Amino acid sequence: MKLMRIATGSCSCVGLLGGSLGGGVGRLSGLHGLVLDSLISVRLMLPNTTIITASKTENEDIFWGIRGAGFNFGYVLNATYRIYDQIPNGLHLNADFKFPISQVQSYYERLDEIAKSQPKELSILTLFNYDADLNETIITANAVYAGPEAEGRAAVQFLLDQNPLVSNITTVPWNNLLDTVGFGFTGPAICMRGNRRSQWVIGVNRLDPDAYTTASGIFQDMITRYPATLDSSIDVQLLPTQGIIAVPDNETAYPWRSLIAHVLLEFKYTDAELDGIVDGYARMIRDVIVRTAGTAGLNVYVSYSHGDETLEEIYGEQKLGRLAKLKKRIDPEGLFDAYHALPTAYP
Ligand SMILES: Cc1cc2nc3c(=O)[nH]c(=O)nc-3n(C[C@H](O)[C@H](O)[C@H](O)COP(=O)(O)OP(=O)(O)OC[C@H]3O[C@@H](n4cnc5c(N)ncnc54)[C@H](O)[C@@H]3O)c2cc1C
Repeated sequence: MKLMRIATGSCSCVGLLGGSLGGGVGRLSGLHGLVLDSLISVRLMLPNTTIITASKTENEDIFWGIRGAGFNFGYVLNATYRIYDQIPNGLHLNADFKFPISQVQSYYERLDEIAKSQPKELSILTLFNYDADLNETIITANAVYAGPEAEGRAAVQFLLDQNPLVSNITTVPWNNLLDTVGFGFTGPAICMRGNRRSQWVIGVNRLDPDAYTTASGIFQDMITRYPATLDSSIDVQLLPTQGIIAVPDNETAYPWRSLIAHVLLEFKYTDAELDGIVDGYARMIRDVIVRTAGTAGLNVYVSYSHGDETLEEIYGEQKLGRLAKLKKRIDPEGLFDAYHALPTAYP
């Protein structure tokens, strides 16, 4: 039997379609682009209950809008995706590392260099998190290479060269990857219900080591003063971009094809009284990162957004005029306004 794969996000609990409607960033983006770039067509029930097909050749304008702002135009009844051969034999190299937080500056100096010539098969997730075994805040790094093992080992050598406290390099079948990576970080636990989960994101065009050193200090201050936030993390998703930038920007509504990484701030805690304190730390860290992001202001991947961002920060000023016209035509009464509603006029 021939093994095939589909582009997905990097977490086990995210619906394929829900992720695709906003973008869908994942480990295969160097090879296959965003998840929405694999969409061939959708069957859509419009707000007026008409059922249509949208694709590159049918209702092209709706297909354009669905890919980036897809929560706004009706119910997607089904979707057809392009799938790909599994190379090589579905096995990926998975490399997990723990570094002391004292290495944050040198770690990010090296990561910034790697980002400039990142192989299209290589994705790297880097976290600041509290490690219960070591009883301290550490840097957890996870690299996945979607290619031959020997090439992968060479690609992750730069991480071994930085003297990790712990390292674990294995080959993993594609369908076990999400439960394995980062010492199990993206497995079922990340999707557990019951936690308060306050998420913030900053899209970046470069990685400034000073900014990440400062951010790690703010993070440590928070979990030291408020141990109830100990399960929180700061996650820099350096995903390869070759497949994303291969698609022309005007082909889809997704606005942020040139970003090199998404910096995800994830605050997990149970006590609602901490909301204000957590928001304060989140804003401090976001300000530090965005100042050095190399972008014109805050760029936010819609599916990672916190909710306090402007329309421009989420959908991109350059896309909003066309999106608003489409919204006015397809959903003038705002029946599909539940999630990141578009306006019917812009500006
Ligand atoms: C733990 C975690 C990890 C994540 N990891 C990633 C990741 O690696 N990559 C990534 O890109 N994103 C990631 N995300 C973000 C994720 O893409 C969004 O949360 C997305 O909205 C989830 O879609 P869903 O279908 O699971 O959720 P849902 O809540 O079911 O859907 C989200 C929204 O999409 C709309 N929607 C869903 N289905 C339809 C439909 N059939 N027709 C029309 N509209 C519909 C609805 O407006 C709904 O409110 C992650 C989120 C979490 C919580």
